[in-house]
Amino acid sequence: MDFTIPPDVESLRQKVRAFVEEVCIPAENYYDYDIGRLPDGPAQDLRRQAKSRGLWTPHLPTSEGGLGLDLVGTAIIFSELGRSFIAPYVCNCDAPDEGNMHLLHLAASPEQKKRFYEPLCKGEIRSAFAMTEPAPGAGADPQSLRTNAEKKGDVYVLNGHKWYCTGANGANFLIVMAKVGDSFRRTTMFLVPTNSPGYTMVREIGVMGSHGPGGHCELKFENVEVPESMLLGRVGEGFRLSQERLGPARLTHCMRWLGMARRSMEIAREYALKREVFGSKLADHEGIQWMFAESALEIEQGFMLTLKAAHTLRAGEDARHIISMAKWSVSETLCRVLDRAIQITGSLGYSRDLKLELVYRDARAARIADGPTEVHKMVIARGLMTGKESF
Ligand SMILES: Cc1cc2nc3c(=O)[nH]c(=O)nc-3n(C[C@H](O)[C@H](O)[C@H](O)COP(=O)(O)OP(=O)(O)OC[C@H]3O[C@@H](n4cnc5c(N)ncnc54)[C@H](O)[C@@H]3O)c2cc1C
Repeated sequence: MDFTIPPDVESLRQKVRAFVEEVCIPAENYYDYDIGRLPDGPAQDLRRQAKSRGLWTPHLPTSEGGLGLDLVGTAIIFSELGRSFIAPYVCNCDAPDEGNMHLLHLAASPEQKKRFYEPLCKGEIRSAFAMTEPAPGAGADPQSLRTNAEKKGDVYVLNGHKWYCTGANGANFLIVMAKVGDSFRRTTMFLVPTNSPGYTMVREIGVMGSHGPGGHCELKFENVEVPESMLLGRVGEGFRLSQERLGPARLTHCMRWLGMARRSMEIAREYALKREVFGSKLADHEGIQWMFAESALEIEQGFMLTLKAAHTLRAGEDARHIISMAKWSVSETLCRVLDRAIQITGSLGYSRDLKLELVYRDARAARIADGPTEVHKMVIARGLMTGKESF
């Protein structure tokens, strides 16, 4: 692996850093705790600024309005954007739209691209990804999938119950995972416009962290008719495509989380260098210095794992093992580092005067969503036990 940042990525990184420092971090003060997100007015204004600075959809090819970064370049840029919890949305590269763009880019037909992908890339519409179901349906174990699609004439009739679908309230369309004819091997992705008869957005589920645009929603599908032309990929390709989506999407999560972990330590450092306790600066106390050292080590380890995973994916190799390592490591690091940052900043860190408490609550989901830590450990161990992976 070559760790040198190419000059074009480095100059873009500096542009992104300036945008995050000058525009996004000050705008975090618009965050509305009652609705759990940025109000629409400031959010749209910030998005216009991202476009005018040439920082819109950085992950897309240049032919599609992006910056033409490969996954390693994306890792560098997304970890800069991640320093502000609003910047990924402002640049139209936050979950779930970013992962859904990737999937549509890979698998959508020309008609589907025109109808869904193009307006999504322009930020004219939003989307959601619907996989998780209440028990006994799919959660950590996707093989428990219950949502079913029955072929009737030239339509598929969808029935099912989903939840925790990020962004679904107000989304224009959903990508829904369902079994065709109750056969798990025929799991398929369907593009479902949210104005389809029989579809209901039941509620935005109240959660511990922020909601983002569109919340985390419970959904019902009751005899929703989906035309054949709205299959994403072919019947039976659902799990292969979901891996195509989730692999890079897990990594882009890691990249954003690393940015947030770095910023939280910067906030803590600023405090520790000013605050005096027991006759010396907080930063001079060994107990505090160790927290900084441990955080720096863990962030660097996570960054290296993320870069290696991006490098493996870019080379077209099977990256499941290293992606699971990166996702497990970075999600746990994020939670530990934020906890330390709050400890170092004391009551100020616990208050809403800083944004650490908000990000701390959001961060807890990182160890559950997109595969809980235990599932990633299981994936790693399976690879090792079958001899496919080595120590
Ligand atoms: C903020 C947030 C956003 C989300 N966004 C989306 C979205 O947009 N679309 C979507 O489809 N889903 C989404 N999810 C759902 C998420 O992907 C699931 O929560 C996750 O897959 C786990 O499923 P579950 O919650 O049903 O947990 P369960 O399957 O009930 O598992 C519960 C716990 O069991 C443990 N466990 C599971 N397997 C093992 C094992 N093999 N060994 C040991 N322990 C194990 C884990 O600790 C796990 O947390 C989101 C979740 C959150 C919290």
